[in-house]
Amino acid sequence: MSKMSPKDYIAREDKYGAHNYHPLPVVLEKGKGVRVWDVEGKEYFDFLSAYSAVNQGHCHPKIVKALTDQAEILTLTSRAFYNNILGEYEEFITKYFGYDKVLPMNTGAEADETALKLCRKWAYKVKGIKEDQAKIIVCEDNFHGRTITIVSMSTDPDSYGGFGPFTPGFVKIPYNNIEALEKELKDPNVAGFLLEPIQGEAGVFVPDEGYLKKAYELCKKNNVLFIADEVQTGIARTGKMLACDHEGVRPDILILGKAVSGGVMPVSCVLADDEIMLTIKPGEHGSTFGGNPLACKVAIAALNVIKDEKLAENAEKMGKIFRDEMKAIKSEMIELVRGKGLLNAVVIRNKPGKTAWDVCMAMAEKGVLAKPTHGNIIRFAPPLVITEAELREAIGRIKEAFKQFE
Ligand code: PLP
Repeated sequence: MSKMSPKDYIAREDKYGAHNYHPLPVVLEKGKGVRVWDVEGKEYFDFLSAYSAVNQGHCHPKIVKALTDQAEILTLTSRAFYNNILGEYEEFITKYFGYDKVLPMNTGAEADETALKLCRKWAYKVKGIKEDQAKIIVCEDNFHGRTITIVSMSTDPDSYGGFGPFTPGFVKIPYNNIEALEKELKDPNVAGFLLEPIQGEAGVFVPDEGYLKKAYELCKKNNVLFIADEVQTGIARTGKMLACDHEGVRPDILILGKAVSGGVMPVSCVLADDEIMLTIKPGEHGSTFGGNPLACKVAIAALNVIKDEKLAENAEKMGKIFRDEMKAIKSEMIELVRGKGLLNAVVIRNKPGKTAWDVCMAMAEKGVLAKPTHGNIIRFAPPLVITEAELREAIGRIKEAFKQFE
């Protein structure tokens, strides 16, 4: 059989796969650390990190070893029986993040759904809200995943359009707006406030300093749960273990996903203390794969890598260099550079032939992969294992790409 070209791979996906994504025309076959290679052997810096799932770098040897070692022993028992690994993971991750209990799931969306269910149970069993009356406050421009309930919370027509009827019980307020939150918290039926500490999919929107802390304090004052979706911002991405750590806020419910496994397999979870977690009883929530021994071993290894390799510290340091260098680029196309740690975005002034998509194509040509979000925003989020030399090399290539548009 003759060798397939990138065009052949793309045509095959197009023919047999649903058209629910619009990828850059690059066909990858290998990854190691901060680098990936396409089917023709071209090397790239990965500046997306699978939407921050690969914080530890592609195919980290310690994580892959944990996967292959456990894969030969036991992969899945379901929760119908106990296994010898789940408890080890539960003890490890609860001590790691400082919570009484963990509820393991697989994808970020499932972990968000779990948090919503926990919040509602807590509303009825602990706070004393009348059955079916609980409300959860969410933010405009949020992204929490793709399920029907989650798109019911969305204000992005691409997310919710054509998928109604929607799940009731959500109040949408502007992000980064304390007055709006204060007003809605007056309603005694409000049980929780769900937010991303930095809105990732919205284009790396960083709220004002002090917003998280004030929001948290208002929630406490009103006996409302502060629920942080750190699926994208967590696990060292923003220069601290959690983005909430920047303001010393400890969420009542913490939602994690993506880099919990270093991008090796879907692993997500929700962490909370007993008052919240024990409101859900046997049979009321779960998942066939959630907390499987393979995932548990992978997650322990992946979280150990974060601390052993001081990836939060590296993200903080490299992020500063990245933003300084990007701000120094003299290009009419760059409207704004923003971010925290290694979760950054460049806002592009889109003009015909000079759009964020065109910039991403030019960067790919130079060997740097990134993807536009919302048309004119490019997110830059390399694996956190990136060295200063690698970062500077990548920045050089990004600058060359921008030069093409002058
Ligand atoms: N929450 C946030 C903040 C996210 O960024 C994402 C995915 O990008 C999700 C939830 C959904 O995660 P998943 O795609 O694993 O369901």
